Amino acid sequence: MLKDELKKIREEINKHNYNYYVADNPTISDYEYDLLFSKLKEIETAHPDLITPDSPTQRVGGISSGFEEYKHKYRLYSLDNTYNEDELRKWYEKIQKEFAKPVQLVCELKIDGLAIALTYEDGYFTTGVTRGDGIVGENITQNLKTIKAIPLKLFEDVNVEVRGEVYMPKSSFEKLNEDSKEKGEKLFANPRNAAAGSLRQLDSSITAKRDLSMFTYTAIVEKNNNSPLTHWDSIQYVKSLGFKTNPNIRLVDNIEGAIQFCKEWETKRFDLDYATDGVVIKVNRFDYQNELGFTSRAPKWSTAFKFPPEEMTTTLLDIELGVGKTGAITPVAILEPVNLAGSIVSRASLHNFDEIKRLDIRIGDKVLIKKAAEIIPKVVKVVDNSEHENLPKYNPPKFCPECNGHLIVREGEVNLFCENPECPSILKSRLEYWVSKEAMDIDFIGPSVISQLFDLGLVRYPVDLYKLKYEDFFKLEAVKEKSASNMYNSIQESKNRLFSRFITALSIRHVGKETAELLTEEFPSLESLLSASLEQLSSIEGIGDKIALSIYEYFRDTKNLELINEFEELGFVFENKIVKTEELLGKTFVLTGTLATMTRDEASEKIKQRGGKTSSSVSKNTSYVLAGANAGSKLDKAEKLGVIILSEEDFLTMIGEKI
Ligand code: NAD
Repeated sequence: MLKDELKKIREEINKHNYNYYVADNPTISDYEYDLLFSKLKEIETAHPDLITPDSPTQRVGGISSGFEEYKHKYRLYSLDNTYNEDELRKWYEKIQKEFAKPVQLVCELKIDGLAIALTYEDGYFTTGVTRGDGIVGENITQNLKTIKAIPLKLFEDVNVEVRGEVYMPKSSFEKLNEDSKEKGEKLFANPRNAAAGSLRQLDSSITAKRDLSMFTYTAIVEKNNNSPLTHWDSIQYVKSLGFKTNPNIRLVDNIEGAIQFCKEWETKRFDLDYATDGVVIKVNRFDYQNELGFTSRAPKWSTAFKFPPEEMTTTLLDIELGVGKTGAITPVAILEPVNLAGSIVSRASLHNFDEIKRLDIRIGDKVLIKKAAEIIPKVVKVVDNSEHENLPKYNPPKFCPECNGHLIVREGEVNLFCENPECPSILKSRLEYWVSKEAMDIDFIGPSVISQLFDLGLVRYPVDLYKLKYEDFFKLEAVKEKSASNMYNSIQESKNRLFSRFITALSIRHVGKETAELLTEEFPSLESLLSASLEQLSSIEGIGDKIALSIYEYFRDTKNLELINEFEELGFVFENKIVKTEELLGKTFVLTGTLATMTRDEASEKIKQRGGKTSSSVSKNTSYVLAGANAGSKLDKAEKLGVIILSEEDFLTMIGEKI
């Protein structure tokens, strides 16, 4: 019985190993794979007599065909892993018992890429090999030579073997997938698969076109008087030879220090432009490492702490249709709830109907979903299962789910649109957008209030919000004096928002927050904007012909002009209230961490009001980094580049406000 169960689990793991290591096309998430693997380990630990030499617990990864096989001089192992802090403590306790002394550890990010071993003779790069099964790998030297982070000649004429992880930056992965999508080619599920797929191209010129890099994390040097005695020192040595190492590394005195490092990176990891799925913890002293040794597949002196999963498979229960403010019909996946990156997810984005067709997603399918911090979870692909072919193909709607109006495809766009300007869903979405943080930022009025105001017939268009009387709010559910006056005042106050916010809130096609800011910087009053010619509009940097035409036409439509007139009569002043401040003018700020007296959006607005700019990443061109509490890697980068770092207090002094 148990034997049969073991056989089944092993077969399943082997199938996933093939999909992952050979086909670069996994069909379950790493988390689910790890669960399956620990189940196998658990049974085998309880019944050691049932362990077979070919069990996945006794060997590493896999090997694929196509390249010349290469026997490693030194074996490459895998790593044991855990998702649990207490297991890390147990691992450390066991080690400490061996030495009866505190054991220092090195913590490194676990880069989610492909393990590679590089051999250098007399300082020259000679061979580069994949890990394969740890004993035999694939010789991919030619492809590795195309990676700029791999030196062809070292700073010293030494014989050395180094190991590291080849990875593709997240931004390059997104771009690669966008290009492949345009060409109708197969997409990669994640940066790791993209890196693996790019490295194992038989044609090196294809690899050369892919943006790959490598972090080196191990060096094996012939023993001499100067050879490093600890892992920490070996990393410094590797750096001195000319290799790229990961800067996010820390030497700690005990496991609590390591757990602290893991906790910090659980959230900070999302700021990085490369994927990391955990932290690798290694015993620092080499003599201790030697004494601890290896199991059949992993070192006993190292372990990996894995972060909560960003990917999971689940079942698509339904496809719900939403109607956006532009009339675009958006399909939303309704899912069997799953725990993803620490929260329960039951809805995910499906982008548009083209995407559903491309991925052949059907209701009832098993799908892989993915979520990175602050990003709405999305459906990545259908996971092959036998059920798929029996499910009916999904047909996009022909009529608007809200008003039953005809749906059309606009030229050059992939979405389906409801053309009925009076469609209640469109009107509600516009109102919701009007009050949102991005547009007029009206506190106390959220989607549920909008929905009630709309259904009661009190508000149909944004302008109606400003005609509401204080008494009207009492018609809403459970509203008393305090919240009625909050809502009323908050709407009235919004008349003083920046001109750019008003333009954003109008929901002009193709005009979002950034375009509205560019536009009002050039044309800071309604008068100047109305008289702008099409040429003037399209000559603004960052505004293309399509956007310019949309803006131009919007302000030529008499209905829109009447609407703007109404706002003016209600007391709106359409002028950019930028008070240019010498110190901020033309300066670029990057915001990071949590501010005490304002949100980052508010800080960003204060900067823009004074003629400054904001950017999301730190570079040599950044003038200031405004750092709040728990600032992440952006602060580290600023320090490294010597960018001026401002505290919240410094910033408030700079803009003439007091805490
Ligand atoms: P692993 O990727 O969990 O850990 C070992 C590897 O970590 C090393 O080989 C090395 O490549 C890498 N690594 C990254 N940074 C490192 C650092 N700083 N120091 C040392 N090593 C570092 O183990 P594995 O054996 O390569 O693969 C097993 C894992 O792969 C599973 O736990 C699972 O997450 C994933 N997997 C998934 C599927 C699937 O179908 N989804 C199938 C097979 C494997």
